[in-house]
Amino acid sequence: DLDRMEAIVSLAKQRGFIFPSAEIYGGFRSTYDYGPLGALMLRNVRNAWWNFMVQQRTNVVGIEAAILSSPKIWEASGHLAGFTDPLVDCRKCGSRWREDQIEGVCPNCGSSDLTESRDFNLMFKTFVGPLADDASVAYLRPETAQGMFVNFPLVQRALRLKPPFGIAQLGKSFRNEITPGNFVFRTREFDQMEMEFFTPPELADRYFDYWVNERYQWYRTLGIPADELRLRPHEADELSHYSKGTIDVEYLFPWGFGELEGIANRGTYDLNAHATHSGEDMSYFDPQTNERYLPNVIEPAGGVTRAMMAFLLSAYDRDEVGGEERTVLRLSPLLAPYTVAVLPLSKKAELQQVSDAMFASLSMEFSCDFDVTQSIGRRYRRQDEIGTPFCVTVDFDTLEDNAVTVRDRDTTKQVRVPVSEVASYLHAKLGS
Ligand code: ATP
Repeated sequence: DLDRMEAIVSLAKQRGFIFPSAEIYGGFRSTYDYGPLGALMLRNVRNAWWNFMVQQRTNVVGIEAAILSSPKIWEASGHLAGFTDPLVDCRKCGSRWREDQIEGVCPNCGSSDLTESRDFNLMFKTFVGPLADDASVAYLRPETAQGMFVNFPLVQRALRLKPPFGIAQLGKSFRNEITPGNFVFRTREFDQMEMEFFTPPELADRYFDYWVNERYQWYRTLGIPADELRLRPHEADELSHYSKGTIDVEYLFPWGFGELEGIANRGTYDLNAHATHSGEDMSYFDPQTNERYLPNVIEPAGGVTRAMMAFLLSAYDRDEVGGEERTVLRLSPLLAPYTVAVLPLSKKAELQQVSDAMFASLSMEFSCDFDVTQSIGRRYRRQDEIGTPFCVTVDFDTLEDNAVTVRDRDTTKQVRVPVSEVASYLHAKLGS
């Protein structure tokens, strides 16, 4: 199955999904850039999450908080003191490792002569303003969650929200990981999708179960089969200091199960910590019962880039079409970089106007590719390889019957559809 990993890393690079960053300079420490198709797909993953978590719910709102903010946030949250990994050095070859990721043996040289572990803080430190002194120290956020906690009273009042309700956010987070790797599974800069759901304490357990199931189903509906997905409750000794219970959604990566997302019951830990440190009242006053309380928080916290990698791995397939082998990404149409490709059968001038018009109208509604080079068979293969669910071929008959051929990626079946009905045909197929 490691072949699948190699195939995806190679396809991602060749076809413009994910490139090693700064490759002309020899790369930069497991950092990646997202190419044209990767940018489209990332946007689709984000949109799928936002639609499911925010747009389709009356009780969840979204925010975008600052990446660089007051270091007091990280003092209150416990990240300054405790967001650490245990770092060990190999005395023989000098390489550094996360103690909990190796079993007492250096993966580089095999030596077991390792130093005692020491706590290494994962937050990136920087300076804000022209003076690089202690007073100007700030940190790149290592998670998006704190933006929701510190803004809880402002959001609640501005939108007159009553628990249970959620605040969601998508955005970049940064962690100075000791050992990044496995492609984009673990990088130092990554995209998170997190939601803090503020609930009356008596409903916390019920909402915990509810969100575990919702989040599991989200991965399923976007195409990950049940046998590649599992829920894993954390053991008591594994729980974070703030958590009363955590269940991870795990995906079967080529090297074994790994976390896609954690759903945690954080109790009142965060609101309480910020109330104590800031002196502000972080509680909710219920005008109906005249009671004031700190809501409990249920948090589904996932990684956008890590999810994208799982979707790519899961979609990768090889089969045979007309006696020819093909590579096909069976991506959900919601995630595929392009929903449809317009392919004029030939470059001849007669087809140009009608093909351009087809692209112009379809691209108003769908992410649309346009490809006129090489044989039609080659072009179908290329679209299969990047997961495009539909190809629309404009041929010489189009000039007579005002219809085009629509080809389905998975079945490779072709049907003739009137030009004026292509958009509604696609909407019907996509259920959109
Ligand atoms: P790990 O134990 O793997 O370091 P974590 O449990 O610390 O991860 P969380 O703090 O729960 O991770 O972050 C929520 C989600 O953010 C993770 O489930 C993962 O999808 C994503 N994530 C965390 N760290 C990284 C990283 N370095 N690179 C890519 N995605 C990440």
